[in-house]
Amino acid sequence: DWAVPGRRHEPGNGVIADTGVGKSSIVWRFVEDSFDPNINPTIGASFMTKTVPHQNELHKFLIWDTAGQERFRALAPMYYRGSTAAIIVYDITKEETFLTLKNWVKELRQHGPPNIVVAIAGNKCDLNDVREVFEKDAKDYADAINAVFVETSAKNAVNINELFIEISKRIPSAN
Ligand code: GDP
Repeated sequence: DWAVPGRRHEPGNGVIADTGVGKSSIVWRFVEDSFDPNINPTIGASFMTKTVPHQNELHKFLIWDTAGQERFRALAPMYYRGSTAAIIVYDITKEETFLTLKNWVKELRQHGPPNIVVAIAGNKCDLNDVREVFEKDAKDYADAINAVFVETSAKNAVNINELFIEISKRIPSAN
């Protein structure tokens, strides 16, 4: 399984990573069930595993948390090529992260494994007051591309386990 952040465009800088969507925080919440507001930016990629009991089975997740910065972008295929699923994260309070998420979907469809399960996580749903992306718009998009979709809050532990469980339901060997 693989997680990628959203990216944003910066003037004069082409496409650059948005390092703030909460990708590492989602993985940390899932693996350690905790939240660190001062979490360090991922350098390169980090690898974590977690085994979850689900309906009389153990599901083992092998998770690459990749850095989104442009300088690491060329490395992304190394992680998603061997993956059964990819989680693409955007920040519900930053519309640009939802727009650029679509580029990641395109890239995965073009260069990723043919049957890769794509999941979209709209993170920071605790910040509903400053929301820029409607849940319905994201859900409609996810349905159209046959992706898992949930809104998450790594901060408040909303839908984090559900995200991974929904993914495992779509992986035949895990059922
Ligand atoms: P990454 O660069 O995409 O891996 O993002 P990080 O996990 O480093 O998080 C970026 C910032 O967003 C940090 O300041 C986090 O504390 C904050 N953050 C992450 N998840 C949430 C969330 O669910 N809610 C809120 N309010 N902040 C979050």
